[in-house]
Amino acid sequence: MRKKVIAGNWKMNKLAADAKQFVADAAGKLPKSENVEAIVCAPFLYLPELVKQTEGTDLKIAAQNMHYEENGAFTGEISPSMLKDSGVTHVVIGHSERRQYFAETDETVNKKVHAAFAHELTPIVCVGETLEQREANETNSHVEKQVRAAIAGLAEDQVAETIIAYEPIWAIGTGKTATSEQANEVCTHIRQVVAKNVSEKAAEQLVIQYGGSVKPANVDELLAQSDIDGALVGGASLEVDSFLQLVEAGT
Ligand code: PEP
Repeated sequence: MRKKVIAGNWKMNKLAADAKQFVADAAGKLPKSENVEAIVCAPFLYLPELVKQTEGTDLKIAAQNMHYEENGAFTGEISPSMLKDSGVTHVVIGHSERRQYFAETDETVNKKVHAAFAHELTPIVCVGETLEQREANETNSHVEKQVRAAIAGLAEDQVAETIIAYEPIWAIGTGKTATSEQANEVCTHIRQVVAKNVSEKAAEQLVIQYGGSVKPANVDELLAQSDIDGALVGGASLEVDSFLQLVEAGT
């Protein structure tokens, strides 16, 4: 049985006091359940402090990005070992906003995924199509290309531990959610791609999240689908009450 994984992606939001208050409230009120994992993906600046705050609780803290190099002349970047040192457990890789605004490519995503595993960080790898690609019937082929590139060269057990977030770009921050059937169709395709290219075992263990305007009102239907194992959530993760409702839905 795969766990449900609910990850809140704050993006570039919140000042320190608000971030700390959220984490204190959320960690204190998380539902006690073996079936769900709750993660907050926070801006770099707050990570060590938030990790300290969550010690002894079930709330996990993640970064939203990292560089793939160990150290060196990369002004403004954060390395995988810095993240590991901060105590975070997960890192979001290849979010569509990073692909769109910061020139992330399938190649850099793959390098980052390898770097994450080299530092015992669990990658949450984002894939998803544009509206034009969906309308041109290219969703499956595009997502397949992104998934295969992201996991290239990984060992079977690493693929099994990877979290893939299927996020149709047209549904992110737009209020437009893919229907649960549309979302599940692509998540099923992702699992089949992994089964064909890696193994049935890795495909069976792989956690696949859906992301794109997930909120308390639609989360139950999405999580009820056969191949959706959680959600990566932007807007609705900024308020502690709605974040907790989303986690509760995964229990
Ligand atoms: C996201 O940030 O990955 C996301 C899916 O955002 P939203 O939930 O706001 O659409």
